[in-house]
Amino acid sequence: MYCKRRWGLLEINGDWAENLFVIKAEIIHERVHQGLHSFSDKDKTARSSVSLYNDSEEYNLYGIADCIEFIKSNKGVKINGLPDLYNVRIAEYKPTPPKDGDFHQSDAIQVFAQKICADYIWHCNTQCYIYYAQTKKRIKLPFDMEFEKYDKMLKEYLRQMRDYLKKHKIPEREKGQKCSGCSLKDICFPKNIKYNVKSEIQKMIREEEI
Ligand code: SF4
Repeated sequence: MYCKRRWGLLEINGDWAENLFVIKAEIIHERVHQGLHSFSDKDKTARSSVSLYNDSEEYNLYGIADCIEFIKSNKGVKINGLPDLYNVRIAEYKPTPPKDGDFHQSDAIQVFAQKICADYIWHCNTQCYIYYAQTKKRIKLPFDMEFEKYDKMLKEYLRQMRDYLKKHKIPEREKGQKCSGCSLKDICFPKNIKYNVKSEIQKMIREEEI
């Protein structure tokens, strides 16, 4: 959602490059995935790095959530391996909130995809939060009110991604795309390199195969 071309370079071309924003996000996620957010007390059990899936034809998704919290509730659902009934809550960790608004839409759609999986696994209505490290604030995402909107958006992104993957095509840069924070700038539009080494090698392999 941030940039289709970036997604294509990462997922189709296998490109990777780091900058300050990527490193910051990595450090936050490393802390979460080291298990620092896994604990149990009398009301709540939290688990980090939880594998999620929804293998229905409609979505067919798999991923790993930063943190899932199971909150004891008589109106909750049964969770394998836990003794009581629980409400399910997703907490996703991100470095920086937007300057205008409570959360980035690109962060929200990622959490919505996690919700689609968690709802499917535990037959519940998962409540979803983003924790922004810079402001140390936890923001509740409005999926109860805006489920249809996010569901439509997610399905459309999945359709487009699968289409690009099938055609093995990297999306073009969109008009008005903001690139200042992107770590792939030098790969996306190289200034000094006359040609892309990787694509030249791929071309040679293709020619050899013919
Ligand atoms: S440099 Fe801009 S267009 Fe290129 S991948 Fe990054 S955000 Fe997208």
